[in-house]
Amino acid sequence: MHDVVVVGGGIAGLTAAWDLTQAGLDVKVIEESSQAGGNISTVGAQDYRMESGPHSFMGSAENVWRLLEELGINEDVVAAAAVSNNRYILRNGKLHALPMGAWAFLTTGLLGCGAKLSLMCEPFKRNGAREEDTAWDFFKRRFGEEAATYIMSPFISGVYAGDIRQLGALAAFPKFWNFEKDSGSMIRGAMKYMKAKRRRLKAEGKPYRKGLFSLPGGLGGITAKLAERLGPAVETGSLIENMVALPGGVEVRSGDRIWQGRAALMAVPPNRGAEILENSLPAAAAALRRIPMVPVAVLHWRCDNPAADLPQGFGFLVPRVEGVRLLGTLFPSQLFGDRAPAGSHLQASFYGGALDRAAYDMDDASLTELMRAEHEAAFGVTLKGLQVLRIVRHPYAIPQLTPEHPATVAALRLAVSEIPGLSLAGNYLTGVGIEQAVESGYVAASEVRTYLLGAQS
Ligand SMILES: Cc1cc2nc3c(=O)[nH]c(=O)nc-3n(C[C@H](O)[C@H](O)[C@H](O)COP(=O)(O)OP(=O)(O)OC[C@H]3O[C@@H](n4cnc5c(N)ncnc54)[C@H](O)[C@@H]3O)c2cc1C
Repeated sequence: MHDVVVVGGGIAGLTAAWDLTQAGLDVKVIEESSQAGGNISTVGAQDYRMESGPHSFMGSAENVWRLLEELGINEDVVAAAAVSNNRYILRNGKLHALPMGAWAFLTTGLLGCGAKLSLMCEPFKRNGAREEDTAWDFFKRRFGEEAATYIMSPFISGVYAGDIRQLGALAAFPKFWNFEKDSGSMIRGAMKYMKAKRRRLKAEGKPYRKGLFSLPGGLGGITAKLAERLGPAVETGSLIENMVALPGGVEVRSGDRIWQGRAALMAVPPNRGAEILENSLPAAAAALRRIPMVPVAVLHWRCDNPAADLPQGFGFLVPRVEGVRLLGTLFPSQLFGDRAPAGSHLQASFYGGALDRAAYDMDDASLTELMRAEHEAAFGVTLKGLQVLRIVRHPYAIPQLTPEHPATVAALRLAVSEIPGLSLAGNYLTGVGIEQAVESGYVAASEVRTYLLGAQS
């Protein structure tokens, strides 16, 4: 019997396993795919380095930095080029730079005068924090309808591939929601938070990092390093079908193979967790099924056009009201020099999400043609020598944290407590980014350590 069996070798499960092995525990990670890493993997082809999921992490991601330091690869991290500060939004068929300063804000054509005034008045608007608010209720109240439509809705497409009217403000944007609740204003709350964070980091002797980061060669370097350091503790190619409580432990099965642990940690997406717990914990499975997942297709492409034919920056997002099916496009080779061969450039375009499952379901040729037509219209140029290098389809890409999500997670945790020593990790619990996935791994590992080793661990 192992000390801990971890089901799922994405970054959440790998982080948890890493932390537990550092505490001297005997851990076994069981991963369905032939390679650990989950959504985080980088694939090379024809000298292009293509990310399957995330393309970067933020300087503010403290748990990610902690992990990189523990793995000894924090010094290898590369910052995105300064051009990453340029971000664009499509409105009326034209790309507008997202204003980053006062003058740019006053002069941008992205928003009308009424919308700018509404945004400027945010600090003085009524505090209306309600737990049942959708993201639409929240951002419309704070910023006004036009900014909610043309800035926050595309931002939500970029992070959640989600529908602003279905996501919960508290569940999906807890920091923003609490800024309003505690300070009466998102802007004032954010300023207070940043000031306090700077002060805390200074006291802890840590740097205040801004911007976007990756590793040379891509983010897959993080999960590859975790898998390398965990070595034989990671077993790939086994799909866990169920999990049951044993006297003094937990047992998981894949076909006729069995693994037993004194404790277990489940780090798989909610729909997969529901399958595993269906028979042993039906209430937990039912709660997991209430967390919707949306599909996303990622198209990695290049063309022969000169770089000047494309906008210079991080990428662009598309408000849903534009009538364009593209969610957004990133320009990875403009951010990190080693993503494309010299003289070439690499783009990554996202389709699908909560509001357009049909785009995800399109065959490769139709999706490629759609992508070509929508980019030619947005850039105002013909794409010459367009080549789609890779299409990655994530049928269950991103969890959608709805207004009911906090109650669902509470019900899930209660149901799971029936198997002593079972903890949960994954990006569906408190937030969908890498930072929250890594944090969930550390938190779950700490719960398991306390269970196995006591409060002093
Ligand atoms: C297209 C896309 C773009 C993204 N972009 C960003 C971004 O820019 N920034 C950001 O911060 N985050 C981004 N994310 C989110 C980020 O990738 C996730 O937060 C993170 O990778 C989730 O890690 P996880 O370990 O929770 O889940 P996963 O990565 O899903 O890992 C779960 C693992 O469990 C395994 N598994 C499932 N079922 C079983 C089973 N029955 N038995 C054994 N193993 C099983 C899976 O194979 C998988 O390896 C993006 C995600 C996607 C899909």
